[in-house]
Amino acid sequence: MYDDLQLLLLDVDGVLTDGSLLIDETGRSVQRFNIKDGMGIRAWQSCGFQVGLLSARSGRAVTLRAMELDIDLVTLGAADKLTGYENLCRRVGVRDEQVVYIGDDLNDLPVLCRVALPIAPADAVSEVRQVAKRVTEAKGGRGCVREAVEHVLKEKGLWDRVLERYGL
Ligand SMILES: [Mg+2]
Repeated sequence: MYDDLQLLLLDVDGVLTDGSLLIDETGRSVQRFNIKDGMGIRAWQSCGFQVGLLSARSGRAVTLRAMELDIDLVTLGAADKLTGYENLCRRVGVRDEQVVYIGDDLNDLPVLCRVALPIAPADAVSEVRQVAKRVTEAKGGRGCVREAVEHVLKEKGLWDRVLERYGL
């Protein structure tokens, strides 16, 4: 199963962030991303695999973070995540068996039930944790993506190759 995995698809709020949404008095929103998650995404990409974002919300901060991490597969404002997921898969040419999805809340369930490897952060809602094949020790926005990437790359036998790039 792990050998087939090609696309790491991520929910944003509660996965790449801790789910907090800070809004200042001018209406500008601020979100906090985790640098270790960024390194995990880089490690996944360095092995030749794709990363995508799938979020029901949209916001400039997410777009900027995606650009910073060279993530081109970005579907924001997807009211119906399953439709967003199907469109994205069609565009990229990947099948359910090739997808890892990390999601944390009820609206992620339809996608989590479709993909080969559904993963939930430690603080995902209980329904999501029940459906997930793996629950990370890390919470959303606190390294859950990094932990998931390390797990999958180790199962694929590619983690040592990542470490070699850093001189280990
Ligand atoms: Mg979420």
